[in-house]
Amino acid sequence: MATASLLLDSEQPCLSSLKRVLPLIGLTGGIGSGKTAVSDLLGKLGAGIIDTDLIAHQITAPQGAAIQSIKDSFGAEFIDSSGALDRSKMRALVFAKPEARKALEAITHPLIRQETIRQATHLAKSGAPYLVFVVPLLLESGSWETLIDLLVVVDCPEATQIERVMQRSNLSRQEVEKILQAQATREQRLTRADMVIQNQGALGDLEPEVIRLHQKILQIQKDLLSSS
Ligand code: ADP
Repeated sequence: MATASLLLDSEQPCLSSLKRVLPLIGLTGGIGSGKTAVSDLLGKLGAGIIDTDLIAHQITAPQGAAIQSIKDSFGAEFIDSSGALDRSKMRALVFAKPEARKALEAITHPLIRQETIRQATHLAKSGAPYLVFVVPLLLESGSWETLIDLLVVVDCPEATQIERVMQRSNLSRQEVEKILQAQATREQRLTRADMVIQNQGALGDLEPEVIRLHQKILQIQKDLLSSS
């Protein structure tokens, strides 16, 4: 098999050039299901983690790459006093107006994609055994499923998701419920998953599940190495 660095040096950087070089894992789940908890554990085991939610936050933080375009398209009132995107104002707008969501995504998606490719290429060249793309709306966004080798879904009951998100943020129950309604349902995710990580128990129960997942992915990596 060509090494990741050889293959990547000779091609235009894009995610499909990483396919068959190392396993590409999609990690998704509803808000508050525990995607970050799972990806943190996988990262500790040596996985290359690309968190698209984190990237989305970074580009809309003060001086983020999306800020000027958001100001130009939506007005300075959508930027708060720190220079970051005013999330609650924007959330209210995109829930009320689907065309505003489209306009926002037209700004953010290309920037998220560019940074995702940059991080993935860097991690592959640095010798990560596999890459995990943490994508909250993976099922809703279409093109991911053709790229990835394994779709992992983090699952817990909706009531647990709501409690966790209310605890970690200042969102109200209604706001969290609204976000949940805009996402794929639990059933839709479970139907399409190649592997499900159950995260309804204590955080400590998660670790053995994640270790099993890591071992399964290392087996995929071995198969990939021996088939090329
Ligand atoms: P996601 O990334 O899917 O939105 P997180 O991993 O951020 O979800 O988890 C949401 C919140 O719930 C976080 O504050 C996290 O620490 C907490 N959490 C995650 N899993 C558990 C668990 N099994 N038990 C208790 N709290 C958890």
